[in-house]
Amino acid sequence: MKIILFGPPGAGKGTQAKKIVDHYNIPHLSTGNIFRYNIKNETELGKKVKSIMDAGKLVPDETVVELVVDELQNDKYDNGYILDGFPRTVPQAKALDQFLAENSTSIDTFITLTVPEEELVQRILSRGEGRSDDTPEKVRTRLEVYRNETEPVLNYYKEKGMVTEVDGVGTIDEIFERIKEVLDKI
Ligand code: AMP
Repeated sequence: MKIILFGPPGAGKGTQAKKIVDHYNIPHLSTGNIFRYNIKNETELGKKVKSIMDAGKLVPDETVVELVVDELQNDKYDNGYILDGFPRTVPQAKALDQFLAENSTSIDTFITLTVPEEELVQRILSRGEGRSDDTPEKVRTRLEVYRNETEPVLNYYKEKGMVTEVDGVGTIDEIFERIKEVLDKI
């Protein structure tokens, strides 16, 4: 099962991805988590992306695509995966399509979590994860970046007829039940 979990910052992608991992036993590929790991360990990649991430902006497509393509070569992804935080731009989506075509495979479903904008801001500011990009100003930038650069990705997949919208408001378990309904049909 190959899934893209999509949605604005604060929609609960990370939380739901963890639940999907546990329930369906497929690996989670979160570009944000990989970047945070590299920043923490002060790797070359970490040094390259730190200031961009801290500002709430997007890491250049080339860097992200190289990372994901590299990561997906790992055997652990052979039987499926859940992509969280990628693709975040239309060029990234196109690069993913190219990679999938080269490997004669495809994404089974694209789930987008819908949450009203006021609730997104509130959720991020109250989640207290201590992320350096979780301040009010950075959150505003991230939402703006989402609208300008990431939302077009939704239309890209809508045109392919791949999108399922899931209501992202409710308890973690309620939202997961909705996601399961979608995934159990695959
Ligand atoms: P996330 O954990 O998905 O919210 O990602 C945190 C930050 O990592 C984003 O605000 C970006 O700076 C960077 N990032 C993560 N994934 C991507 C991506 N696919 N393209 C560009 N930047 C990304």
